[in-house]
Amino acid sequence: MTKEELKLLLKIQEIDLEIERVRNRLKKIKEELETLQKDLKFLKGEKEKLLRKKDEFEELRKKLKEEIADAEFQLQRTEERLMAATRDVEYRALLREKAKLEDKILKKSYELDEVEKELEKLSKELEEKIPKIEKEMREIEEEIKDLDFEETLAHNKLHELANKKEDIKKETPEHLVRFYEENKEHFEGLVVVPMEDEACAGCGIKIPSVLLSKIIKENGIEQCPSCGRFVYYKI
Ligand SMILES: [Zn+2]
Repeated sequence: MTKEELKLLLKIQEIDLEIERVRNRLKKIKEELETLQKDLKFLKGEKEKLLRKKDEFEELRKKLKEEIADAEFQLQRTEERLMAATRDVEYRALLREKAKLEDKILKKSYELDEVEKELEKLSKELEEKIPKIEKEMREIEEEIKDLDFEETLAHNKLHELANKKEDIKKETPEHLVRFYEENKEHFEGLVVVPMEDEACAGCGIKIPSVLLSKIIKENGIEQCPSCGRFVYYKI
Protein backbone atom coordinates (compact mmCIF):
# COMPACT_ATOMS: atom_id res chain seq x y z
CA MET A 1 0.00 0.00 0.00
CA THR A 2 1.36 3.41 -0.91
CA LYS A 3 1.19 6.52 1.27
CA GLU A 4 -1.43 7.96 -1.04
CA GLU A 5 -3.54 4.82 -0.77
CA LEU A 6 -3.15 4.88 3.00
CA LYS A 7 -4.39 8.46 3.12
CA LEU A 8 -7.43 7.52 1.06
CA LEU A 9 -8.25 4.55 3.29
CA LEU A 10 -7.84 6.71 6.38
CA LYS A 11 -10.25 9.24 4.92
CA ILE A 12 -12.82 6.53 4.21
CA GLN A 13 -12.37 5.20 7.71
CA GLU A 14 -12.77 8.66 9.22
CA ILE A 15 -15.97 9.22 7.24
CA ASP A 16 -17.36 5.87 8.39
CA LEU A 17 -16.60 6.69 12.02
CA GLU A 18 -18.33 10.04 11.57
CA ILE A 19 -21.32 8.30 9.98
CA GLU A 20 -21.45 5.99 13.00
CA ARG A 21 -21.39 8.97 15.38
CA VAL A 22 -24.19 10.74 13.48
CA ARG A 23 -26.27 7.53 13.42
CA ASN A 24 -25.86 7.08 17.16
CA ARG A 25 -26.91 10.66 17.72
CA LEU A 26 -29.96 10.12 15.50
CA LYS A 27 -30.93 7.10 17.57
CA LYS A 28 -30.61 9.20 20.72
CA ILE A 29 -32.65 12.02 19.17
CA LYS A 30 -35.40 9.55 18.30
CA GLU A 31 -35.49 8.26 21.87
CA GLU A 32 -35.49 11.78 23.30
CA LEU A 33 -38.33 12.79 20.97
CA GLU A 34 -40.40 9.79 22.02
CA THR A 35 -39.96 10.68 25.69
CA LEU A 36 -40.84 14.33 25.08
CA GLN A 37 -43.95 13.41 23.08
CA LYS A 38 -45.05 11.16 25.93
CA ASP A 39 -44.48 13.95 28.47
CA LEU A 40 -46.39 16.38 26.30
CA LYS A 41 -49.32 13.99 25.95
CA PHE A 42 -49.40 13.49 29.71
CA LEU A 43 -49.46 17.26 30.37
CA LYS A 44 -52.21 17.80 27.78
CA GLY A 45 -54.22 15.11 29.55
CA GLU A 46 -53.70 16.77 32.93
CA LYS A 47 -54.81 20.13 31.58
CA GLU A 48 -57.89 18.64 29.94
CA LYS A 49 -58.78 16.75 33.10
CA LEU A 50 -58.71 19.96 35.16
CA LEU A 51 -60.77 21.89 32.60
CA ARG A 52 -63.26 19.05 32.25
CA LYS A 53 -63.75 18.97 36.01
CA LYS A 54 -64.53 22.70 35.97
CA ASP A 55 -66.97 22.22 33.07
CA GLU A 56 -68.74 19.45 34.95
CA PHE A 57 -69.20 21.61 38.04
CA GLU A 58 -70.38 24.55 35.95
CA GLU A 59 -72.88 22.28 34.26
CA LEU A 60 -74.09 21.08 37.66
CA ARG A 61 -74.41 24.68 38.90
CA LYS A 62 -76.51 25.58 35.86
CA LYS A 63 -78.75 22.57 36.40
CA LEU A 64 -79.26 23.36 40.10
CA LYS A 65 -80.06 27.01 39.37
CA GLU A 66 -82.65 25.92 36.82
CA GLU A 67 -84.20 23.46 39.23
CA ILE A 68 -84.38 26.09 41.97
CA ALA A 69 -85.92 28.65 39.61
CA ASP A 70 -88.44 26.04 38.50
CA ALA A 71 -89.34 25.13 42.10
CA GLU A 72 -89.64 28.82 43.02
CA PHE A 73 -92.03 29.36 40.14
CA GLN A 74 -94.12 26.38 41.24
CA LEU A 75 -94.08 27.65 44.81
CA GLN A 76 -95.37 31.02 43.70
CA ARG A 77 -98.22 29.38 41.83
CA THR A 78 -99.01 27.15 44.79
CA GLU A 79 -99.14 30.19 47.07
CA GLU A 80 -101.49 31.92 44.66
CA ARG A 81 -103.72 28.86 44.60
CA LEU A 82 -103.59 28.70 48.38
CA MET A 83 -104.92 32.25 48.62
CA ALA A 84 -107.78 31.28 46.35
CA ALA A 85 -108.51 27.91 47.94
CA THR A 86 -111.97 27.57 49.42
CA ARG A 87 -112.23 23.91 50.28
CA ASP A 88 -110.43 22.51 53.28
CA VAL A 89 -109.14 19.38 51.46
CA GLU A 90 -107.72 21.48 48.68
CA TYR A 91 -106.17 23.89 51.14
CA ARG A 92 -104.38 21.10 53.06
CA ALA A 93 -103.14 19.49 49.84
CA LEU A 94 -101.74 22.81 48.69
CA LEU A 95 -100.08 23.35 52.06
CA ARG A 96 -98.35 19.98 51.76
CA GLU A 97 -97.25 20.84 48.25
CA LYS A 98 -95.94 24.19 49.46
CA ALA A 99 -93.93 22.52 52.22
CA LYS A 100 -92.55 19.99 49.76
CA LEU A 101 -91.45 22.71 47.36
CA GLU A 102 -89.87 24.77 50.12
CA ASP A 103 -87.97 21.71 51.26
CA LYS A 104 -86.81 21.06 47.71
CA ILE A 105 -85.61 24.65 47.30
CA LEU A 106 -83.73 24.45 50.57
CA LYS A 107 -81.99 21.22 49.63
CA LYS A 108 -81.08 22.40 46.15
CA SER A 109 -79.81 25.72 47.51
CA TYR A 110 -77.58 23.85 49.92
CA GLU A 111 -76.26 21.72 47.04
CA LEU A 112 -75.70 24.86 44.99
CA ASP A 113 -73.70 26.37 47.84
CA GLU A 114 -71.48 23.32 47.94
CA VAL A 115 -70.98 23.42 44.19
CA GLU A 116 -70.12 27.13 44.32
CA LYS A 117 -67.53 26.44 47.02
CA GLU A 118 -66.07 23.60 45.00
CA LEU A 119 -65.96 25.79 41.90
CA GLU A 120 -64.15 28.53 43.78
CA LYS A 121 -61.58 26.03 45.03
CA LEU A 122 -61.22 24.62 41.55
CA SER A 123 -60.78 28.07 40.01
CA LYS A 124 -57.92 28.78 42.39
CA GLU A 125 -56.38 25.40 41.58
CA LEU A 126 -56.69 26.09 37.86
CA GLU A 127 -55.21 29.57 38.21
CA GLU A 128 -52.21 28.02 39.88
CA LYS A 129 -51.80 24.83 37.86
CA ILE A 130 -52.76 25.71 34.29
CA PRO A 131 -50.03 28.35 33.72
CA LYS A 132 -47.44 25.94 35.12
CA ILE A 133 -48.63 23.12 32.86
CA GLU A 134 -48.75 25.45 29.85
CA LYS A 135 -45.25 26.74 30.56
CA GLU A 136 -43.94 23.20 30.78
CA MET A 137 -45.73 22.32 27.55
CA ARG A 138 -44.19 25.30 25.75
CA GLU A 139 -40.73 24.29 26.95
CA ILE A 140 -41.23 20.73 25.73
CA GLU A 141 -42.55 21.96 22.38
CA GLU A 142 -39.46 24.14 22.07
CA GLU A 143 -37.20 21.16 22.80
CA ILE A 144 -39.08 19.08 20.22
CA LYS A 145 -38.60 21.82 17.65
CA ASP A 146 -34.86 21.97 18.33
CA LEU A 147 -34.52 18.19 18.12
CA ASP A 148 -36.53 18.07 14.89
CA PHE A 149 -34.15 20.61 13.43
CA GLU A 150 -31.12 18.69 14.65
CA GLU A 151 -32.59 15.53 13.15
CA THR A 152 -32.93 17.20 9.76
CA LEU A 153 -29.35 18.45 9.94
CA ALA A 154 -28.11 14.99 10.90
CA HIS A 155 -29.91 13.40 7.94
CA ASN A 156 -28.35 15.98 5.61
CA LYS A 157 -24.98 15.28 7.15
CA LEU A 158 -25.37 11.53 6.56
CA HIS A 159 -26.23 12.18 2.94
CA GLU A 160 -23.24 14.46 2.55
CA LEU A 161 -20.89 11.93 4.17
CA ALA A 162 -22.17 9.10 1.99
CA ASN A 163 -21.48 11.17 -1.15
CA LYS A 164 -18.02 12.11 0.08
CA LYS A 165 -17.22 8.46 0.80
CA GLU A 166 -18.33 7.42 -2.68
CA ASP A 167 -16.06 10.05 -4.24
CA ILE A 168 -13.02 8.86 -2.29
CA LYS A 169 -13.80 5.21 -2.97
CA LYS A 170 -13.59 5.95 -6.70
CA GLU A 171 -9.99 7.11 -6.25
CA THR A 172 -9.01 4.13 -4.07
CA PRO A 173 -7.85 0.78 -5.52
CA GLU A 174 -10.72 -1.67 -5.50
CA HIS A 175 -8.92 -4.44 -3.62
CA LEU A 176 -8.17 -2.06 -0.72
CA VAL A 177 -11.75 -0.85 -0.56
CA ARG A 178 -12.91 -4.47 -0.59
CA PHE A 179 -10.52 -5.40 2.21
CA TYR A 180 -11.65 -2.39 4.19
CA GLU A 181 -15.38 -3.04 3.73
CA GLU A 182 -15.06 -6.74 4.44
CA ASN A 183 -13.10 -6.23 7.64
CA LYS A 184 -14.38 -3.00 9.15
CA GLU A 185 -17.08 -4.65 11.22
CA HIS A 186 -14.70 -7.26 12.56
CA PHE A 187 -12.14 -4.53 13.35
CA GLU A 188 -14.78 -2.32 14.97
CA GLY A 189 -14.29 0.44 12.44
CA LEU A 190 -10.50 0.58 12.72
CA VAL A 191 -8.96 -1.21 9.75
CA VAL A 192 -6.00 1.15 9.44
CA VAL A 193 -4.27 2.11 12.69
CA PRO A 194 -1.12 3.98 13.69
CA MET A 195 1.70 2.38 15.64
CA GLU A 196 1.82 3.65 19.20
CA ASP A 197 4.82 2.91 21.45
CA GLU A 198 5.91 0.23 19.02
CA ALA A 199 2.54 -1.49 19.40
CA CYS A 200 -0.48 -1.90 17.15
CA ALA A 201 -3.04 0.75 18.19
CA GLY A 202 -5.79 -1.69 17.21
CA CYS A 203 -5.03 -4.71 19.38
CA GLY A 204 -2.16 -3.43 21.53
CA ILE A 205 0.32 -6.15 20.70
CA LYS A 206 4.01 -5.19 20.39
CA ILE A 207 5.14 -5.19 16.77
CA PRO A 208 7.90 -7.76 16.11
CA SER A 209 11.30 -6.15 15.39
CA VAL A 210 11.41 -7.31 11.77
CA LEU A 211 8.16 -5.51 11.02
CA LEU A 212 9.11 -2.61 13.26
CA SER A 213 12.07 -1.67 11.10
CA LYS A 214 9.97 -1.98 7.97
CA ILE A 215 7.30 0.24 9.43
CA ILE A 216 9.63 2.84 10.94
CA LYS A 217 12.74 2.93 8.79
CA GLU A 218 11.09 2.20 5.48
CA ASN A 219 7.99 4.09 6.59
CA GLY A 220 5.96 1.14 5.35
CA ILE A 221 2.46 -0.06 6.00
CA GLU A 222 2.32 -3.62 7.29
CA GLN A 223 -0.40 -5.91 8.55
CA CYS A 224 -0.33 -6.56 12.29
CA PRO A 225 0.61 -10.23 12.78
CA SER A 226 -1.85 -10.47 15.65
CA CYS A 227 -5.06 -8.79 14.53
CA GLY A 228 -4.47 -8.25 10.81
CA ARG A 229 -5.08 -4.51 10.78
CA PHE A 230 -2.89 -2.28 8.63
CA VAL A 231 -0.33 -0.50 10.81
CA TYR A 232 1.47 2.67 9.77
CA TYR A 233 3.99 4.89 11.48
CA LYS A 234 3.72 8.31 9.89
CA ILE A 235 1.41 9.54 7.24
ZN1 LIG B 1 -2.99 -5.56 15.89
